[in-house]
Amino acid sequence: MTRCVLAWLEQSARRAPQAVALEDEQGAMTYAQLLSRARQIGSHLLRHAVTGAPVLVYMDKGPECVAAMLGAVCAGCFYTPLDTSMPEARVERILSQLEPQRVLCAARYASRLRALAGEARVDAIEEIGETEDAGSLAAVRREMIDTDLLYVLFTSGSTGTPKGVSISHRAVVDFIDWAAEALAIPAGARIGNQAPLYFDNSVLDIYGALRAGACVHFIPNRHFLFPAGMGQYLRDERIDTIFWVPSALTAAMNAGALERCAPPLKRVFFCGEVMPCKTLNAWRRACPEARFVNMYGPTEITDVCTWFPVEREFADTDALPIGFACANTRVTLVEGEICVSGTCLSSGYYNDPERTREAFVPSPRGGGVTEWMYKTGDLGAYNERGELMFLGRRDSQIKRHGYRIELGEIECALCALEDVRAGCCLYDAPGERIVAFYAGEGDERSLRRALRQVLPKYMLPDVFLRKDALPATGNGKIDRMALKREWEHEHTVR
Ligand code: AMP
Repeated sequence: MTRCVLAWLEQSARRAPQAVALEDEQGAMTYAQLLSRARQIGSHLLRHAVTGAPVLVYMDKGPECVAAMLGAVCAGCFYTPLDTSMPEARVERILSQLEPQRVLCAARYASRLRALAGEARVDAIEEIGETEDAGSLAAVRREMIDTDLLYVLFTSGSTGTPKGVSISHRAVVDFIDWAAEALAIPAGARIGNQAPLYFDNSVLDIYGALRAGACVHFIPNRHFLFPAGMGQYLRDERIDTIFWVPSALTAAMNAGALERCAPPLKRVFFCGEVMPCKTLNAWRRACPEARFVNMYGPTEITDVCTWFPVEREFADTDALPIGFACANTRVTLVEGEICVSGTCLSSGYYNDPERTREAFVPSPRGGGVTEWMYKTGDLGAYNERGELMFLGRRDSQIKRHGYRIELGEIECALCALEDVRAGCCLYDAPGERIVAFYAGEGDERSLRRALRQVLPKYMLPDVFLRKDALPATGNGKIDRMALKREWEHEHTVR
């Protein structure tokens, strides 16, 4: 039984030391190099760190950043990667929550971090030498158990204070063992990474690759910002597997990337937000050989808890199921809310017992012992085939004029329209208005007319706001909070 994720790295390094594990524009790292770099960084940390302590990793995405994360693990610590473009005020809030003793950063960030990190020792990764302390590394490893934390990822909290989702080795082993079987990523596969390392989607890219002996290719961000050449890029780099947020797939489709050059993909996986079937269908046409899988899950259950392999046709206007619980995972609907139990559950919000208690609760199965369950805040329902459908966030279900409305359903209809490239709806409660933001060619009249064909009158948006493009979060999802702020700033009825 795998107890520590490093076992995958060691195994792949033994099997194919010269195979490329990680690569970006700057260069590549083989499995042998990655293992020895992680051990060097781990040995360095061990000289000063307390095993089991948080290590903040403040570096741009790339092979060295992954080596730093794994270096922290070699030292028996857990890591928190941070977005290097995050405002300093947010970094400070995270630091006060996490209280890291060690910070690993790129040299160019060292002085900024030294000013922010208080007591923590800050090391520039470039200054860490090549010494390996095999004895200390082995001693630490002997002491590790699988409930030890592997990482803490910070997600935005509704109160404005970020929540540190703590994930153990055991949860990642459980997830990646399932993924290895269900998704069948082979040794030598080339995974084109989109997700930032501080976003949970990257966990499948990194650990799925380490377990299989595959290669993670970090696609430069500019290709996601200007995706017209994405098809060609994927072809040139021989990418055969992707796991992206649907917004990234939609943007590439809208930019004409698929018509210019069909990507040579064998596996197209997506997770993180609703996948519009219009996007799915365009990609299926462009990559007829590929297997498509919709995955669903929040950071708190280790990335993915349900999956839906796409094996039948869907109309552009259909909603795509999120499917079935992954192995060793239990999904329960409690008053319509998707609740999850299993080994995949987070150990809680780091240093935040109160919010942990609110979100992680005993499941109704009880029976004299406590089975913990995470309340996702998402609404679900089973369709007539027994597949789970995602109905929207609990807080995006609204009541208007007595009607219960899922904003997600309106979005689904909006995004399916031919003239709409991307769409998002929010509710202005004080003004009792449904606001539809969209990027596309259609004007308000034509969109209203088209939506009237598919939605009941009480669900029609009251306001349509056209934008050149919808704003994106650092993860690449539609930034709903930014749209809400914009609306409130300009339009709230006072
Ligand atoms: P995160 O913790 O950033 O991964 O965000 C998790 C949230 O994204 C979930 O609670 C859902 O609201 C949404 N989400 C994730 N995957 C899907 C999916 N396949 N379809 C619809 N929404 C999704």
